[in-house]
Amino acid sequence: MAGTVNVIDHPLVQHKLTLMRSKETSTSKFRSLLREISMLLAYEVWRDLKTTLVQIETPIAPMMAPMLDGKKTAIIAILRAGGGILEGMLDVLPSARIGHIGLYRDPHTLAPVEYYFKVPDDMPNRDVIVVDPMLATGNSAVAAVARLKENQPRSIKFVCLLACPEGVNTFHNAHPDVPVFTAAVDERLNEKSYIVPGLGDAGDRLFGTK
Ligand code: URA
Repeated sequence: MAGTVNVIDHPLVQHKLTLMRSKETSTSKFRSLLREISMLLAYEVWRDLKTTLVQIETPIAPMMAPMLDGKKTAIIAILRAGGGILEGMLDVLPSARIGHIGLYRDPHTLAPVEYYFKVPDDMPNRDVIVVDPMLATGNSAVAAVARLKENQPRSIKFVCLLACPEGVNTFHNAHPDVPVFTAAVDERLNEKSYIVPGLGDAGDRLFGTK
């Protein structure tokens, strides 16, 4: 079963992505763009959120109006760059619950090793969005989602800013049931595991590290 990849090609998303790709873009601008673009991604990712009708009164008349139960949604950020997407998504759904997964790559085995895992309770009643800006080798996304599945969330979606064919294939070989949402699928991965043309190291650009 092949997994689905949703490329969010809205002109606003593509415009902001171009600014983020440019090496001339400063850290502070990169940070604010990531937050803005994540709000726009959220709009598509959460298109299928369920609403229930509640009774309210407008200044003119009573009515039954749709509302979300945001608490049923959890956003899980893969450390460290996932925090950038998390902030933008929280701007549009502030009541969402939050989790973090920290992984590093063992320098000898190259396998992802978990160093932090904290997610909300009651996961079987939550729809989960896993966020990380770059789906590059796909290894940390595969490991993060595998770990998360141990907590049996009701559903999982994976949201990134940029993906590449190698990352998508690796991810969907492991998790064909988890749809990917991204602003673009770039050409390829290079020998240093950077996405080409990409935008460089998302964490360094977000935090101003090198
Ligand atoms: N991680 C990044 O931050 N950038 C890439 O191009 C690949 C992985």
